[in-house]
Amino acid sequence: MDACVLEEWGGSLSVESVPDPEPGPNEVRVDVRACGVTRTIENAIQGGLDDDPSLTPRIPGHEFAGIVDAVGEAVEGVTPGDRVLSYFYLTCGDCDRCRRGETNQCTNVGGWYGVNWDGAYAEQTVLPASNVLPLPEGATFAEGAIATDGLATPLHVCRRTDVTDRDTVLVIGAAGRIGIHLSQLAALRGARVLAAEITDERLEYVDSVTGPAVQPIDARGTDFAKRLETATPNGDGPTVVVDTVGDTDTLSDAWEALSMGGQIVSLTTHHDRSFAPPLKEFVASEASILGSRYATKDEVVRAARLLADGRIDPVVTERVGLEEVPDVHERIRSGQSHGMVVLEP
Ligand SMILES: [Zn+2]
Repeated sequence: MDACVLEEWGGSLSVESVPDPEPGPNEVRVDVRACGVTRTIENAIQGGLDDDPSLTPRIPGHEFAGIVDAVGEAVEGVTPGDRVLSYFYLTCGDCDRCRRGETNQCTNVGGWYGVNWDGAYAEQTVLPASNVLPLPEGATFAEGAIATDGLATPLHVCRRTDVTDRDTVLVIGAAGRIGIHLSQLAALRGARVLAAEITDERLEYVDSVTGPAVQPIDARGTDFAKRLETATPNGDGPTVVVDTVGDTDTLSDAWEALSMGGQIVSLTTHHDRSFAPPLKEFVASEASILGSRYATKDEVVRAARLLADGRIDPVVTERVGLEEVPDVHERIRSGQSHGMVVLEP
């Protein structure tokens, strides 16, 4: 079969012919129908999640949906022909957190599908049976690919922060797949949304794909904090700030404008970023800083239902074949991407 292969962390991708993968006793083989080509995967390619040289060559890609083609002899509950979508973390299934259903907090995690295990930038992929989840009826494969991370992660953020109609949510990096779907989801929960971006093109893009509850806001320049205050009721500033990109300068401005009792959420997967407000101000404003770690398996399936039911609009900017994936990653690397590109091998 054909696949996009990474020879070494930080290197470039090439399309190669590789042996068809065979499922082990507890594994399933899936025909890949749609896989997101995303910034999270680019970060993984750069070694941002694990840079152990023994893990390469590697087929990346973790945000996919497809049809089960074959199952190992010990697999129960998954059969050929099932429509499935993927779960990113290689969870143990036995730890206290896994038993509680908080699978994103697995304390014995075996790494990431697509990083420590070959992923879905390929015609077929083999993965642990516990890493496939049922794709709800009515959801397309592209919607399944969006649900796996692009909407499941925002769903987890909204649960962590309990976003309601009382909130003004600032989304930093709103034109990316997480930002776009988070903006929509927060608006669906009744919140006002300020969608921050740093180029005219990205601001216009956000405006073109979101509804009236989402207001694009320019994050450039020294008066960003002032603009945030003017854009919120009573000049109080946003009650929830979600940083999807790890931009600590923009985050510092958002901290300046954060409302009393506000919450700051970080989703960054970059290991070289840090942000710490002065402790006294932190106490005086009764602020919360939250890390939000991916999503549970339940949230991945629920995200797919939101798309299947039409409650959230799936944002797909481009559909590509395997040959185009290396170029898409070049564009992501140079910051020239928005929304979600979907590979249909
Ligand atoms: Zn576990």
